[in-house]
Amino acid sequence: MSRVHPEGPGDQPDLGTRAASATRPVLPPRPDGDPGLVDRFGRRAVDLRVSLTERCNLRCTYCMPAEGLPFAPDAALMSADEIARLVGLGARELGIRKVRFTGGEPLLRKDLVDVVARSAAAHPDLELSLTTNAIGLASRAAALRAAGLHRLNVSLDTVDPDVFAEVTRRPFLDRVLEGIAAAADAGLGVKINAVLLRGVNDHLAADLLAWCLERGHELRFIEQMPLDPGHAWNATTMITAAQIRDLLAADYSLTPDEAPRNGAPAERYRVRSRATGADLGTVGVIASITESFCGDCTRTRLTADGHVRSCLFSDDETDLLGALRAGADDQAVLDRWRRAMWAKPRDHGDDTDGLVHPTRGMSAIGG
Ligand code: SAM
Ligand code: SF4
Repeated sequence: MSRVHPEGPGDQPDLGTRAASATRPVLPPRPDGDPGLVDRFGRRAVDLRVSLTERCNLRCTYCMPAEGLPFAPDAALMSADEIARLVGLGARELGIRKVRFTGGEPLLRKDLVDVVARSAAAHPDLELSLTTNAIGLASRAAALRAAGLHRLNVSLDTVDPDVFAEVTRRPFLDRVLEGIAAAADAGLGVKINAVLLRGVNDHLAADLLAWCLERGHELRFIEQMPLDPGHAWNATTMITAAQIRDLLAADYSLTPDEAPRNGAPAERYRVRSRATGADLGTVGVIASITESFCGDCTRTRLTADGHVRSCLFSDDETDLLGALRAGADDQAVLDRWRRAMWAKPRDHGDDTDGLVHPTRGMSAIGG
């Protein structure tokens, strides 16, 4: 389901969109020759998420059905060269400052080190990061660091092996922990992402925080979003940011971090032990649903098959890879990207009833 943009139909040429092309607003002249990615609501995208594959070796219940999903064939995915060209254009011409590779599981790309190296070479100032489940990271962490990767976010919803197997439908906790340790040894900054599921791992939230604090990895709890193709998400049973803070309250006192967020999705808190009063570090809570931060969004996304997606929750997509393969020059590609950004929706609905469940799931869009 896609949204109707408030300005009504536009008269721009066909942009190869998957949805809502008939309702796109007209792109106005660029203000002051601003070359960046700006939208109708004054937001500017400087963070690019690039999905490298739709495939995954886990089956997290909030993300993928047990039987998996129909994955796009490899030939339909962006190559390392195509990714580097788009990343380079984004950085040189559109003001992109950070690139995060994601998926599906990006470590399933055999050419991941090459993708990182070529993207690093495309622009010297880019900050490059990876979101991964860390399976197989142990053997590649050093090479990824050498290729130019700066940091990574590892998804880890629990450190209890049985609960891990229940959440991911795979008994691979040891391999994840091995990957995290190798990444830290390689000098890569590691943050941990966790989704809490009621009655499954919510009772272990404080244990997971303790594990992360002991190792110096910032933990960020992410509210579960309706981005699973199985439609398991439920507004009444999802664990909210307020409930996440409550789950930690018996062991820890949380004080909001005063540092500006600068478009970062996580609200950060300083964590103190209730038992000793010691300052133990920080924790983040990403309240995508109940305390939405759409007004400060700085993101633009490329799906693994090379479509720009300006919002996780909007099915509106613009095909850049098709344009590249049809021989489009840089200006034509940049124009498509800017138009896609201009059409970015204001938000994804600021109450849980108004949320749209997009057609493509998180693993296909790139989380
Ligand atoms: N496979 C990699 C991983 O798990 O880190 C990268 C892709 S995954 C889609 C990226 C992030 O999206 C993960 O942190 C995962 O927990 C999160 N995610 C997936 N489905 C979600 C959902 N329905 N709600 C909230 N977060 C979700
Ligand atoms: Fe795979 Fe990541 Fe989705 Fe889990 S959250 S199924 S690891 S893509």
